[in-house]
Amino acid sequence: MKLATIRDGASTKAVRIDGAEAIELGVVDVQAVLERDGWQDWAAGVDGPRRPVDGLDYAPVIPRPDKVLCVGLNYRSHILETGNEVPSHPTLFSKFASALIGANDEVPLPPESGKVDWEAELTVVIGKRGRRIAVDQAHDHIAGYTIMNDVSMRDFQMRTTQWLQGKSWERSTPLGPWLVTADESPGPSREISCEVNGEQKQKADTADLVFDPAALVAYASIVHTLEPGDVIATGTPGGVGMASGQFLEDGAVMITRIAGLGECRNLCRRDRGS
Ligand code: ZN
Repeated sequence: MKLATIRDGASTKAVRIDGAEAIELGVVDVQAVLERDGWQDWAAGVDGPRRPVDGLDYAPVIPRPDKVLCVGLNYRSHILETGNEVPSHPTLFSKFASALIGANDEVPLPPESGKVDWEAELTVVIGKRGRRIAVDQAHDHIAGYTIMNDVSMRDFQMRTTQWLQGKSWERSTPLGPWLVTADESPGPSREISCEVNGEQKQKADTADLVFDPAALVAYASIVHTLEPGDVIATGTPGGVGMASGQFLEDGAVMITRIAGLGECRNLCRRDRGS
């Protein structure tokens, strides 16, 4: 099952996507779906107004998560290109919800940063509350998967030892287009890629993750109670712009794909800062 949050005037609506049709579920967003007991059966069966999938205006699939957790340095290929060693614990950092944008929204390139970079990431969405979740129970807490591009302002990220200012820029981070529920999601091996202006920059297999989704859910839940709608971006593979000195420029088209999960397609526009 595919669930999305779409914009409708000034508000949003959760929809189930069935082929070429989107069926409105009667709640404001996918997080509101995941907060219902027995959400899988409810969301699969509920009927409502229908609209064509063509032309949907996607909001971030979870517009206002309680937590957006991100993982740094989690693909062997990316760890090697940054000159680091394979870590013994996940590097966790966070974003604010205000950083999130829809799957096809423009990415504003801020006037203050000349080093805006791409980071394709497989992203876990939590579907069941839990604390201190065992690795072998983690799959019960994962609603499904989506795509994030953890767009990073490298000049700001690297100014200090804390990455926040380069990682949580307002309206920087596409999340979507939809949640594919775990039962329909491909297995651990999926192709993940990022293309900029038709040129492939990143291409990897999610099986190269050092800490896989279950390990990350278990680890993060030591620190936090994970809530329905919480988002965990699992880190990016090799091929980021920082490694080659190339960054996103005005007019760039950035496409982030994961096999079985769709794509985010974003036009980057220099923001004059008005
Ligand atoms: Zn990242």
